[in-house]
Amino acid sequence: MSDAGAERDVVIAGAGVVGAAIARELSHFKLRCTLIDGARDVGARTSKANTALLHTGFDAKPGTIESRLVRRGHELLREYAPRAGIPLERTGALLVAWDEPQLHEFAGIVARARANGYAAIREIGIEELYRRERHLGAGARGALEVPDEGIVCPFTTPLAFATEAVLAGCELRLDEPITDIERSADGRLRVHTSAGALTTRFLVNAAGLHSDELDRMLGHDGFTVTPRRGELIVFDKLARGLLQHILLAVPTATTKGVLLAPTVFGNLLLGPTAEDVPDKRDTSSTRAGLSYLRAQGERIMPALGDHEVTAVYAGLRAATEHADYQIAIHAAEGYACVGGIRSTGLSASMAIAEHVRAELGAAGLPLAPKQPRATARMPNIGEASPRPYARAERIAERADYGHIVCFCERVTRGEILDALAAPIPALDLDGLRRRTRVLMGRCQGFFCGAHVAALLADGDRGDGAL
Ligand SMILES: Cc1cc2nc3c(=O)[nH]c(=O)nc-3n(C[C@H](O)[C@H](O)[C@H](O)COP(=O)(O)OP(=O)(O)OC[C@H]3O[C@@H](n4cnc5c(N)ncnc54)[C@H](O)[C@@H]3O)c2cc1C
Repeated sequence: MSDAGAERDVVIAGAGVVGAAIARELSHFKLRCTLIDGARDVGARTSKANTALLHTGFDAKPGTIESRLVRRGHELLREYAPRAGIPLERTGALLVAWDEPQLHEFAGIVARARANGYAAIREIGIEELYRRERHLGAGARGALEVPDEGIVCPFTTPLAFATEAVLAGCELRLDEPITDIERSADGRLRVHTSAGALTTRFLVNAAGLHSDELDRMLGHDGFTVTPRRGELIVFDKLARGLLQHILLAVPTATTKGVLLAPTVFGNLLLGPTAEDVPDKRDTSSTRAGLSYLRAQGERIMPALGDHEVTAVYAGLRAATEHADYQIAIHAAEGYACVGGIRSTGLSASMAIAEHVRAELGAAGLPLAPKQPRATARMPNIGEASPRPYARAERIAERADYGHIVCFCERVTRGEILDALAAPIPALDLDGLRRRTRVLMGRCQGFFCGAHVAALLADGDRGDGAL
């Protein structure tokens, strides 16, 4: 299927949600594409550690590329997700003001939403707010409703994009960091990796936190990525009933503030913090960050304090000195920079891909459509979708779907074996987690960890030994 080894039309550096979306978009055309990542899996960096909101872009800075692409990305992902098996829910958001100055910000927020083409935002009264969110902490002064904000699965989304690309013939190279890029005399680019080199006509830099470094390899110097760490707390599923909508904070000049949101897996998520850190690998959680979130959570929803924390994690936004994405197409150089996709890249991913495809077409990349188009149908791991253990027809089809391995998330042996044999297979426990939810429940693998590790070690033999 993939034509590995040949000279490439396009190399996409970075298989996060942005690079995977671009690979999917380009795989619809008769092109020789390679999607390449230094990590062992697709979506294994910032794209796996975010708040997973599907933003409407109501609060983006009007006139920016980000505002346009988030709005369009929302539209595209909402349409694509049900087809591809990506869990997505339109919960709506309530942006809550807790004091008089925050209340005064409302007029500006509504004006900004309208300038971004989003007119459905509206102010609701205190009575309605507390009727709709019965567990909201005391003292709220007012709220804006943003009915189209939603939640989406951050794990399935990049995997679906990359799977579709691979099924359409895109070459996927993992665990192969790009170490250097040079220009050949004929104008092509020579991409050096830990496993050799490949030649390409076009290079797309979707390297997230490292997009500035790749940009410099190509002789540009337009931006520097400073990782902005966001810590988050995941609450147990028993807390889910406390909350109906995403609860947003009134943003300040520097942060969107701490939010409380449901997840598509049936948990509640509190966060994120926003702290610039020097190290691009520093995804540690800190005592100070978690205490800050706890204090914020107590005010937003005091009843949260009675609920167990399932996990904490942190992600790094690829923040730059600029207030917009760093997207630039250098047509004559065969180079597209798609860097600095800070805090809305999951929502905007499909629109970024659409934009990059159009720009590369204008830059001379021949775009002859492939027929028929490959499609990916992913296992839906969202709480709203019945899992195989609860579906008699799936168990009849394969007895392994009736054999639960992870009782917290009700993941079956059949789903684990499927993930090990998928077009982009899980290679480690982290990959299995993101494909099946195994080890992600309230026991965090205490009960089933050894069993899952043995299944992983056995590969996809499915010999019924465990
Ligand atoms: C705390 C937090 C909350 C967020 N909340 C939301 C949200 O609610 N909604 C939303 O839409 N967005 C949100 N985001 C933003 C979103 O997660 C990012 O915009 C998105 O994941 C960026 O994707 P990416 O593909 O650009 O980067 P990444 O996912 O980081 O992918 C870049 C890839 O490039 C690879 N790479 C880097 N250097 C090299 C190299 N030299 N060679 C080969 N490969 C390389 C990396 O291994 C990585 O896999 C949030 C982010 C954070 C941190």
